[in-house]
Amino acid sequence: MLKYLTLCAMCLLSLGAVANGIKLKGEMTQGSLIRGEVPAGSQLWLNENPVRVSEEGYFAFGFGRDAELTQKLKWQNAQGVLQEKNFTLTKRTYVEQKIEGVASKYVSPPESVLSRIRQDNQQIGVARANNASRLDFTQDFIWPAAGPISGVYGSRRVFNGVPKRPHFGVDVAGPTGTPVFAPADGIVTLWVPDMYYSGGTMIIDHGFGVSSTFLHLSKGHVESGTQVKQGDLVAEIGATGRVTGAHLDWRINWFKERLDPALLVPKR
Ligand SMILES: [Zn+2]
Repeated sequence: MLKYLTLCAMCLLSLGAVANGIKLKGEMTQGSLIRGEVPAGSQLWLNENPVRVSEEGYFAFGFGRDAELTQKLKWQNAQGVLQEKNFTLTKRTYVEQKIEGVASKYVSPPESVLSRIRQDNQQIGVARANNASRLDFTQDFIWPAAGPISGVYGSRRVFNGVPKRPHFGVDVAGPTGTPVFAPADGIVTLWVPDMYYSGGTMIIDHGFGVSSTFLHLSKGHVESGTQVKQGDLVAEIGATGRVTGAHLDWRINWFKERLDPALLVPKR
């Protein structure tokens, strides 16, 4: 009897932790992926937009590079009780990166490649729009490659003196052939060896709109449709597409929202 009571008290306690509200994991700042949990059966809204919640209560969402600092979460449990949480994101400052020596065909692409660029972007867009019912995104991510950081998220970039879009990945420098590992479990949804800007390009879907993209690869070790486990060898670093040297450009998306992978892994 005593044993039964003890167990039951513990189970109430652990239920209470989630039943009280919401658990959030991630830095409350621009560019951040937030993972979290609400009581099973709840619905969730971020700034009045519905966010998908798994049967168990897991969810993810992300704040873009220049996200509004004032944010509002609202959730309703299975019994209809509505709760709200307002919070303020920390504003980030982004550096400017000047890059010289970029081949001119990448700074001002010739007319003849514009349809190819459009097609590349469309394929990437389709892969990132996936809303797969997998909970791989709840894992603790690992760095996909060894090597020094040579480019950071959000930086404003100037190629050969021409201002371009900000950089949205984290760059890990390493010689061509350096192994690239899956940062979390997932399914490969895209592998194209020769996109115009991004060269060898691979996307791994971690579920609920969270995906990893790897750019400039020299080689892929898996095909589209392959299920991968965290730490599996998936590709090799390369210098394909618009680059000035071999590196891995790792991106994290929540659907179209481009997020900072460096916030998901231990500081390097
Ligand atoms: Zn990059």
